[in-house]
Amino acid sequence: MRESHRLFARAKELMPGGVNSPVRAFRSVGGDPIYMHRGEGAYAFDVDGRRFLDFCNSWGPLVLGHRHPKVQKAIEEVVARGWTFGTPVAEEVDLAELVTSKISHVELIRFVNSGTEAVMSAVRLARGYTGRDRILKFSGCYHGHADYLLIEGGSGLATSGTPSSSGVPHAFAELTCNVPLNAHAKLQRFFEENGNQLACALMEGVPANNGLLIQDKDYIELLRHLCDQYGVVVIFDEVLSGFRVPATTAYQYYGVKPDLVTFGKVIGGGMPVGAYAGRHDIMNRVAPLGPVYQAGTLSGNPVAMAAGAATLRAYFEESVEDHIEATGLHLDQRMAEITANTRVGYTRLGSLFWLYFDRNEAPQAAEDIASISGEMYAKLHRYMLECGVYLAPSAFEVGFLNAAMTTGDMDLFADTLAQALEQGIL
Ligand SMILES: *Cc1c(COP(=O)(O)O)cnc(C)c1O
Repeated sequence: MRESHRLFARAKELMPGGVNSPVRAFRSVGGDPIYMHRGEGAYAFDVDGRRFLDFCNSWGPLVLGHRHPKVQKAIEEVVARGWTFGTPVAEEVDLAELVTSKISHVELIRFVNSGTEAVMSAVRLARGYTGRDRILKFSGCYHGHADYLLIEGGSGLATSGTPSSSGVPHAFAELTCNVPLNAHAKLQRFFEENGNQLACALMEGVPANNGLLIQDKDYIELLRHLCDQYGVVVIFDEVLSGFRVPATTAYQYYGVKPDLVTFGKVIGGGMPVGAYAGRHDIMNRVAPLGPVYQAGTLSGNPVAMAAGAATLRAYFEESVEDHIEATGLHLDQRMAEITANTRVGYTRLGSLFWLYFDRNEAPQAAEDIASISGEMYAKLHRYMLECGVYLAPSAFEVGFLNAAMTTGDMDLFADTLAQALEQGIL
């Protein structure tokens, strides 16, 4: 019996579903989760000593791969001096300077401990700034697990949605509206009817939590235009897309400027970090400067800040984006050959890629994803896992490339996928 199975059996007696975040339980792909033990570059090794080409990247943070020497060194240097003081520390100034110098719309930034917290805080700030209560999000976008963000769109043009989690009061659904992605006319109509009551419009920089749903630039421009017209704060949630898409952020990729932006994942380099940031005149409303309260015991802690700063520094110094793009182009080529005339589709943007099923074109809205996807992905996932390729255990999660991956790794992935298809597992 594998050690992973033994651990999971113990874990199920101790934690709900055996896990601390639901998708890790492998429910949607079947089988038991793999317990990882050690990482090295593009690879993770489990407690049984098996090696996996790791496309999960801890759900995105590891843009440099596992245990990049500069990040490891930065963490070790801090830990040798002490790992938290609850006072301001030099490391947070360093990371703040790095982010604001590299991303032009970011004038002031506040660090928190997770992406969920970052979005929660940004929405509170938008509400405080505008004095309005209602918010708009897009169906299928994920923004963490705050109550009022676990609301999905109702049918048709109903403006208020329904909670997607038990425990979320229905009253919250009245304040959170949903519009589908890639739906110009609906967005326009929604603003005509509700724009004056909206505090903010919240969109994933590039929607990548329910498949990779790449939006056309004109949809993002329309959103910006409508928000200007109705005095609504635009928040790009770049917790996942930040430092993962071409030109670093969706803002720079689309050339559309948000008022506030949230970060997480990569900016912590694998430590628990989130951030919200943006224009001076809005960020000035945050305590202690302004009346919008937000605080955190471990916010800006030096280990996390140092890991984030070392990651971003290496990201720019080592031209990580260009390097990954080259690796990605190789993968594109291989995937085009392999998936031609199959039920598997492939799409990529920057270091994010996604396999979709039974569609000729990559879906751009949650509603366009084939319902058979979960079932087909589960078969593929199982096969790939046994061959040493670790894909996220859900059809709706993207794959992450990182700087440690080589064209040889892309070939390993592509060859394994080709084998799976030849064997008719789908
Ligand atoms: C991961 C994610 C979050 C939530 O971040 P956590 O650190 O898991 O709380 C929020 N928004 C987006 C776009 C994300 O991808």
